Amino acid sequence: MGVPTLGCDCAVCTSTDPHDRRLRPSVLLRWREPDHDEDSLPPIRKEREWMGHGQGKERVVVIDTGPDFREQALRNSLTRVDAVFYTHSHADHILGLDDLRPLSFNVFREGGPIPLYATPETTAVLERIFDYTFAPDATYPNRARVQLHPLHEITTVHGVSFQRIPVMHGEMEIVGFRFGRTAYLTDISDIPESSFALLTGLDHLVLSALRHKPHPTHATVAQAVGWAKRIGARHTWLTHIAHELGHEETNRALPEKIRLAYDGLSLPVNLEADR
Ligand SMILES: [Zn+2]
Ligand SMILES: [Zn+2]
Repeated sequence: MGVPTLGCDCAVCTSTDPHDRRLRPSVLLRWREPDHDEDSLPPIRKEREWMGHGQGKERVVVIDTGPDFREQALRNSLTRVDAVFYTHSHADHILGLDDLRPLSFNVFREGGPIPLYATPETTAVLERIFDYTFAPDATYPNRARVQLHPLHEITTVHGVSFQRIPVMHGEMEIVGFRFGRTAYLTDISDIPESSFALLTGLDHLVLSALRHKPHPTHATVAQAVGWAKRIGARHTWLTHIAHELGHEETNRALPEKIRLAYDGLSLPVNLEADR
């Protein structure tokens, strides 16, 4: 719902701590794609370039475009998006799709529509809600230059692999993503046993934890902490946080390697698929 939550005057919604102001969850990944044959590079140089120090073309991937996508894009000075991955079709993850329009016009001039990767279930909802964009007979001239693509087990965007991680959101199976040694799992109420095998050797794990009180489709902090300990990433960040959780107070009670994420949190990550 975002924090402050509309109509609420609780301690977190009225907090003056900027960490307690939360837009809807999303992830932005930026890297530089080496613009020469990377196999010819010495290994040290190659790693530096993937870590973002190189001179190549900037690539940008977004996971989910929620209702706050426009504000998030402005805060991060986005001028392009090379691909979008969708976790599932709920409003807080898709309603900003239309704000891809101006960015898609830029990208389209370079070579084509922005690819949007989604499961068949999510694709069906996107096609219905944004029918003026996706319908074969859509005639609205300024529609977003975007194109839906099926999500494979591994989808590669400009050299970076995104592995699909099945997770449960209540009764729905939705998707999380692993890229290099980082994984993003949001809106989870359970993690299937088979998905744990895909989550070994992580530097950063982003997991959703709504609040302390149980919820039918979202994990509590205690559940998320249990999974985080089992997965054993070097750092775990909790996201998709409701107004029941104050930033400072919750962090004080969390184990050392587990922290609440916050709007604007930025981390260097290794994007090489090296397992
Ligand atoms: Zn509140
Ligand atoms: Zn959500």
